[in-house]
Formats: sequence, structure tokens, C-alpha cells
Amino acid sequence: MLVFEAKLEGTNEQYGKLDEAIRTARFVRNSCVRYWMDNRDIGRYELSAYCAVLAKEFEWANNLNSMARQASAERAWSAISRFYDNCKKNKPGKKGYPRFKKEQTHGSVEYKTSGWRLSADRRYITFSDGFEVGTFKMWGTRDLHFYQLKQFKRVRVVRRADGYYVQFCVDQERLEKREPTLKTVGIDVGLNHFYTDSDGQTVANPRHLRKSEKSLKRLQRRLSKTKKGSKNRAKFRNKLARAHLKVSRQRKDFAVKTARCVVQSNDLVAYEDLKVRNMVSQRVGRVPRLEATGEPVRVRNRHLAKSISDAAWTQFREWVEYFGKVFGVVTVAVPPHYTSQNCSNCGKVVKKSLSTRTHTCHHCGHTQDRDWNAARNILERGLRTVGHTGTSTSVDETDQYSRLGNSFKQVNS
Ligand SMILES: [Zn+2]
Repeated sequence: MLVFEAKLEGTNEQYGKLDEAIRTARFVRNSCVRYWMDNRDIGRYELSAYCAVLAKEFEWANNLNSMARQASAERAWSAISRFYDNCKKNKPGKKGYPRFKKEQTHGSVEYKTSGWRLSADRRYITFSDGFEVGTFKMWGTRDLHFYQLKQFKRVRVVRRADGYYVQFCVDQERLEKREPTLKTVGIDVGLNHFYTDSDGQTVANPRHLRKSEKSLKRLQRRLSKTKKGSKNRAKFRNKLARAHLKVSRQRKDFAVKTARCVVQSNDLVAYEDLKVRNMVSQRVGRVPRLEATGEPVRVRNRHLAKSISDAAWTQFREWVEYFGKVFGVVTVAVPPHYTSQNCSNCGKVVKKSLSTRTHTCHHCGHTQDRDWNAARNILERGLRTVGHTGTSTSVDETDQYSRLGNSFKQVNS
């Protein structure tokens, strides 16, 4: 699935109507969750049928395009089925019981193939359901020209702190050709560098994230001093939300560039399978949600710097895996045990504390930077994982093999 995004330019009146549509989508989603809570044995089909009941009962729900209503019911169902899944798998901790979505500074409404229309030059979009939102000019839609109209399976209107956006979801897998580089790499992430690879190269931590951290903290403090419900508070909430939006865009930019670079220059990328989220929540409390939503959050923990770089790493990893699929490069997550303790030269265990920055092996005399040594172990483990069946990793083996097959196909073609 490919997603293209453009900013919507319209009048305040139009934005107000978009808000109404977004509110209605949330109302339908929440009503479906409520309906499920009251009738626990129902499934996807009943929820979808319930949409028609809502439309009959509430005039404003009837204003929303019928496929958009269905999409909202599907959202409710995906929250419910995620909860069922977690229960079935007996996932430790919270199971994610479906909750009601609250009124927030961000939100979205999803249309499918009806309720909207593009102009012939594809620079304007018109929403044609009962809200009579009208026509918007779109900024940043160059990519739309490469696709057939019928390829746009979903169109989503997203409200963020700095305006309204439209996303076009294209049902197409992205596959790109790449010459094999005959290189493999292992990656060790840390706080000193963003990562160190098995050739001893390092990528520095994105500095702008640290800088933004300070301004986030300042805004957070100022927000907490304002009176609840006051105009001033609303102003600072929006400022804070914009600051979060900026950070999340910077981080995404960094993650995409770095991941693309590492994937394109290697045939295999190995990294540790760190459960970053758990790690952070156990050690320093809540992870700040800085994702694309730009949601203003209360950042309680004092280790913001660490959680920010953890979030950057999680996102980087997701992009590595994404580009791995796109370019037919094998990506392997290896279990993180002993990667820093073992000697990458002779394989024996050399115990060291976190503060020991240099690996010195008293078995074979090998000396190397601690992270470099770890990266070499990670690569070695990654290669072993891909080469044999039956090794225990959290990565789906068959998935890995199909990816391997993919890269071979690309080599041959
Ligand atoms: Zn050694």
C-alpha cells in the first residue's frame, strides 16, 4: 500500500465542515464500539449493518457518505479484533480493550471510492457527501499523476495541528530494482551513536531531536501554567502540538533517509530484535507518543532524550524492513543476547559492564570498539539465521525465505 499526502487549501467554513465529517466518523466508530460492548457476540457483519441504523436515527450520521460510514465501522471492528487477538495469544500485560475515541486536536475521516472526486488536472478535490464541504486546492500532488483513478482505494482526510491533509492510498506494492552489492552489514544501536555497523562506520544521533526536546519541555511547562478551558491554554496546546508535529516529521525524515541508505548499499541487513517499547515503559515510564498525529502529550518522564532516540530507532527499523521488501534486501532481527559480551573474533564470552567502551579479549587478544564488536556479532548471527532453518528468532522464517527468494529473482532478472 502506497500513501500520498497533500495539504488542503480552503476556507474556514469548509474546514469547519470537514471537522463535522471527522466528528461524525468518530461518532460512528464509537457507537459501533458501544454496540459491541452491549452485544458481545456480534461480529463484523453486524457492525456494518448497524451503520444503516445509525444513519436512519441520526441526521448528521446520514450526511456522511455511506462507504465512509462503513470505513468507520471497520475501524471499530479492527480495534475489537485486535483485542480478541491479544486475548487469544494470551499476550502478557494489557490486552487493549477497545476504547472510545475522544475529541482531540487531530482526527480523521476515511472515504473509499465514493464521496469525493478529483478535477481533471488532479489539483483539486471535491467532497460530495451530505456535509457539502466543497472543493479544495491540493498542495503537493505531483505523484497522483502516475496512477489510475481506480487505483485509489481509500482517501483519508486528516486533521493535524497545522491544518488539513488528504491522503490517497494506492493499492500497489512497491518493488524496485537494485543491483546486488555483495555486501552484508550488522547494526548496533546505542546512545553514543545512532548506530555503529560491522565495518566500524558510525551514524551520529540526529541532533535536531535533542534541540526540539528543549523547546518541547519549555512549551509543556508554559501550558501547565495556563488556566483550564482558557483561550491561552488552547493557544499553547496548539503550539505544543505543532512542536510535536515538527519533531515527528524530522524524525521520520531522518529514519527514511538513513534506512534507505543502509538497505540500498547492502544485500543483507542484520540488527538486534529489541523490544524498545517495553524497554522504555519499564525503565522510564510512559513513551511519549510523537507519531504523525502530532498529538499533544504530557511528557512525564525525565528521560525524554532516551525515549526520543528509542522512538527514532523503532521508526528506523520499520523503514529498514519496509525498504528491505521494496528493494529485495534481506533484513534479519537477531535475538539480542550476548551480542556485546561475545568476542567477534574467537566467539568466547568476555564479560563487560555498560561503561566499558572497548572490547578487549583475554582469550585471543582481539581489541575493538565495543559497539563495533557488537555489530560484527549481530551480522554473524544474522547470516547464520538466514542460512539455516530451525534457529530461534522472532522473525518469521518463511517470510525471510520468501524475501531471500525475491532478492535472487531480482539478481537473475
Ligand atoms: Zn577473542
